[in-house]
Amino acid sequence: MAWAIPARLQGQGPDTVRRARLLLSCTAVMIVLGVTGTLFQLTLDPNPLRARLLAIALPTLLAGAIPLVLRSTGSLACAGNLGAAMAFCSTGFVAFQTGGLGRPIMGIQALVPLIAVLVAGVRWGVFWTVLAIVEAVILFYLTLENFQFPAPPPAEMQDRINLVLSTMLFVMVLVLGSIYESLKNTALQYFQQANRKLENARDEAQAATRVAEEASRARSAFLATMSHEIRTPMNAVIGMAGLLEGTELTDEQRDFARTIRQSGDSLLTVLNDILDFSKIESGKLEVESNTFDLETTIEEAVDVLSIKAKQAGIELLHESTPGLPRNIVGDTTRVRQILINLLSNAVKFTTEGEVHLTVCAKRLETGPFEIHFAIRDTGIGIPKNRTDRLFESFSQVDASTTRKYGGTGLGLAISKRLAELMGGRMWVESEEGAGSTFHFTIVAKRAPDLTAFTEKQAAKVLQDKKLLIVDDNATNREILKRVAEPWGMKPTLCENGRQALKRLLGPAEFDVAILDMLMPEMDGGELARKIHAMKRRAKLPLILLSSSGAILEEAGETETRAHFAATLAKPAKPRQLATVLCEIFGEKKKDHKASSNLPTDMGQKHPLRILLAEDNRINQKVALKILERIGYTAEVAENGAVALEAIERHVFDVVLMDLQMPEVDGIEATRELCSRWPTEKRPRVIALTANVFEEERRACLESGMDDFLSKPLAVPALIAALQKCRRRPEENAGASVREPESSPAPA
Ligand code: ADP
Repeated sequence: MAWAIPARLQGQGPDTVRRARLLLSCTAVMIVLGVTGTLFQLTLDPNPLRARLLAIALPTLLAGAIPLVLRSTGSLACAGNLGAAMAFCSTGFVAFQTGGLGRPIMGIQALVPLIAVLVAGVRWGVFWTVLAIVEAVILFYLTLENFQFPAPPPAEMQDRINLVLSTMLFVMVLVLGSIYESLKNTALQYFQQANRKLENARDEAQAATRVAEEASRARSAFLATMSHEIRTPMNAVIGMAGLLEGTELTDEQRDFARTIRQSGDSLLTVLNDILDFSKIESGKLEVESNTFDLETTIEEAVDVLSIKAKQAGIELLHESTPGLPRNIVGDTTRVRQILINLLSNAVKFTTEGEVHLTVCAKRLETGPFEIHFAIRDTGIGIPKNRTDRLFESFSQVDASTTRKYGGTGLGLAISKRLAELMGGRMWVESEEGAGSTFHFTIVAKRAPDLTAFTEKQAAKVLQDKKLLIVDDNATNREILKRVAEPWGMKPTLCENGRQALKRLLGPAEFDVAILDMLMPEMDGGELARKIHAMKRRAKLPLILLSSSGAILEEAGETETRAHFAATLAKPAKPRQLATVLCEIFGEKKKDHKASSNLPTDMGQKHPLRILLAEDNRINQKVALKILERIGYTAEVAENGAVALEAIERHVFDVVLMDLQMPEVDGIEATRELCSRWPTEKRPRVIALTANVFEEERRACLESGMDDFLSKPLAVPALIAALQKCRRRPEENAGASVREPESSPAPA
């Protein structure tokens, strides 16, 4: 069917169909009007001019071709302009024939640009308007020049012709108006439909978001539960294995116990990584803002890895450049976490050589400090084309890494995110086979330095003291030198015992010497004996530098140890070194314990009456055993209600409060405790929980708890938490002042 809209136009969307329909309707109207006009012309004038008749009849016939052109070209512009051209020429010719500008046929011509706009677009509309104006100007000019138009209708016919043309014009306008109205309705329906679709899509998206939020909540809850469920038995495994190690065992049994504990630790790391990762995924990873001692945090991280490094036979070195702020505001746990992760990777992927951590800081124009950590290793390195992907989750250099070195491939992704949360970034430089340097920065404000031992104090005591440094590791010699120089010391470096002895035989004066323990040819012990055997140097104070955790074994027999005024764990920590040096030169400083042994007499030195609120039998046992190791006993309550009763009856200085307990849980019990007694009359409450989520931590502190320890219970953390507790005077106690039977006698 010629009058149907061709399929290829239908495929171009509703707007094209609408225009095609308009064109075909106008063509039909044009044909009807053309036929009417021709008939009228015949009745009007029995001897019409052939040209005029032709001008109307011919285009009318040709208009029948428009649908065919539309079908064959598929172009609306082509067919539409063809129609416009016919109508324009036809009406223009009639106007010219019958008297020019004033003829009513010009009214019909005025519809051509209108139809062109609707069918072929505004540009074609403008084109036909311009043509019509040009034509009008020409006709106007001809009229001015008194041109004789070929066949003006006789005056008596004028009215009839006007009537017919006006009628045609009205019909045409009516048709266009109706078409416009129907198009408008179609468009409205179309918009309403589109609107409905949008609304539906919005509702669906909202529903999907609700489902996703629900799922996210469920996942968080699941993770919290899972974390708790895993940590509780892990607490027992790690705690008991640690306790087992402390008992009398054969070497083989000790090795078994150590393996259990280390595997437990690894498992815990994986668990923490997965929890962090899921928090990153849900956008819930947050960092805290507390004041902390930056150097201590770095030292703690280095301590964690120093034993591993020693076992792997590599040097672990640490250097903080001067100008590092002592205390900063930030998240100590997270900084330590990144450092431990990068340091353990460095140790893991290095078989020989050294791992060197440098930390420096620069003040930003805006006020805070940018602290830059760099961990350089001499390990296997990373191929250039892999460095970008390293920081993506689950990404390892290749699959064989997992088989050979283990790991989840999450550590770097988490560390990078954490660094970014702390306002910094993370990147790596590496050369395959030569080693890697991982860098990260954080931005933090300096916090007031209240307690620290300042460089100035050290400088007063150590000014101009001559220091001999003997170490086979060049980096370490350099670090010690750079640590000592700002205190005004004058260091001399030697790379082995022979060189050192030669120096000491010479005339130079020395006030103190630092000897590395493990050196080829002559170790630190032997060197010390030889130094003290020299008459002039018999009193020279010596400091032994040794890989931590093994100081005593390395130093050998007591006799050798006696040569040293102090021993320091490697890597040497500036503050510890300053403390030791100040002690040697007479300035008594607060004791920094170089050894990591447990303070078994803490219970006597710092007596506390402890209540342990914990429902799980195994966890009770672990906690009691650990407390026993540091000299404490504790009374046990198996839930919050029993704990409250116990506090009513006895005086306690501290409650170790598990969170999830039957009947009355830890939070509820603490709230009740705080409402019954004012702060100074109640024991300090330390939360003890397998849940490490920030929300939980916040809930604990909000309920009135004073501190927070996560399970598995780390002994140093427990010691630190107990050190913050004070023994309360008897009269401040609760209802009764009777001593609990199980608490230790005050020292
Ligand atoms: P994993 O738990 O596998 O160690 P990470 O995200 O910490 O996860 O590290 C991802 C990968 O990056 C490692 O598996 C290793 O291939 C590579 N990598 C990280 N640190 C080093 C390094 N110091 N030297 C060489 N390769 C490294």
